[in-house]
Amino acid sequence: MSTLSDQSVPVLQARNVTKEFATSGSALRRGHIAAVDQVSLSLYDRPPQIVSLVGESGSGKTTLSRMLLGLTPPTSGEVLYHGKNIFELNREEFRNYRINVQPVFQDPYGIYNPFYRIERVLQLVIDNFKLAKSRSQAHDMIEEALRAVDLRPNDVIGRYPHQLSGGERQRVMLARLYLLKPKIIIADEPVSMIDVAVRTLFLNILLDFRDKYNISTLFITHNLSTAHYLGGQIMVLCFGRVVESGDIDQVIQRPSHPYTQQLLAAVPSIDPDNRWTTKANLESIERPLTHEAGKCVFVSRCPYAMPICSQQRPPDFTIRENQHSACFFSEKIAVEAAAASEVR
Ligand code: SF4
Repeated sequence: MSTLSDQSVPVLQARNVTKEFATSGSALRRGHIAAVDQVSLSLYDRPPQIVSLVGESGSGKTTLSRMLLGLTPPTSGEVLYHGKNIFELNREEFRNYRINVQPVFQDPYGIYNPFYRIERVLQLVIDNFKLAKSRSQAHDMIEEALRAVDLRPNDVIGRYPHQLSGGERQRVMLARLYLLKPKIIIADEPVSMIDVAVRTLFLNILLDFRDKYNISTLFITHNLSTAHYLGGQIMVLCFGRVVESGDIDQVIQRPSHPYTQQLLAAVPSIDPDNRWTTKANLESIERPLTHEAGKCVFVSRCPYAMPICSQQRPPDFTIRENQHSACFFSEKIAVEAAAASEVR
């Protein structure tokens, strides 16, 4: 539904965004922490993409998604929609952004009006965005949208949200998106509260949306297995920083950053039905305050830490094509490997 269509410009972009919060606690630890720390990402619709933002609890995933959705302003940096700061859009541009950047939340129950039957939830979308010319066309559109997300209209129409399972409620949210056909979906832990049986079905619908309707998804998850199932690109967040990014198959087969390596070691198997049972144990690391940010966030737990890691923030090194790692050790290994291959 975009009227802004320069394909060389990302539909949605975070440009070096940081979000700081004040901390409480002992005087020694009082200050500010960066929940999101100088993160940049770009989402395009042509070709459509799936980008998974993976991180543990407290990594800044939800704060970043809230900034992308315009729900919280960044402390510094910008969120751009077709190259324009989302807080400086005019009325028409803002309406366009609101249609084309759509959220899916972890628990859809909270956003349903419990007194509205499901067809009314979808009818409101049609009415608000003037998607149908008549009642009968609206009815047909609702049925088509429900079928598109693998729900049988007769099973759902006439029912209230509390009469549906969690998986059905999430799919009604996807039916709402099917009606709107946004450019970007920002899905924040959308499958963490639904049954294993429908988790794969939900992921397949996102893949269908990409392939059939050019809808890109930023998939935010703590579960590396579901991210791998979706494929595409991955960004690994650790304490608000992107520590590794690139093609997901490549990152999973040859993780470069020591934090990613620990995450992968904690996954029982790459299967979307498996939960990420073990953590890389970030709880044992004290989160750096912003005034001590000139170092690697993982330095106190890293088996490869070098003096430079406590003295400088590692920049984003290109390790190989379509794989980047904010790690001095990864960069050193990549440079040595490249030199060795040249000698051979
Ligand atoms: Fe470890 Fe240093 Fe790399 Fe940080 S920059 S992950 S401390 S080797």
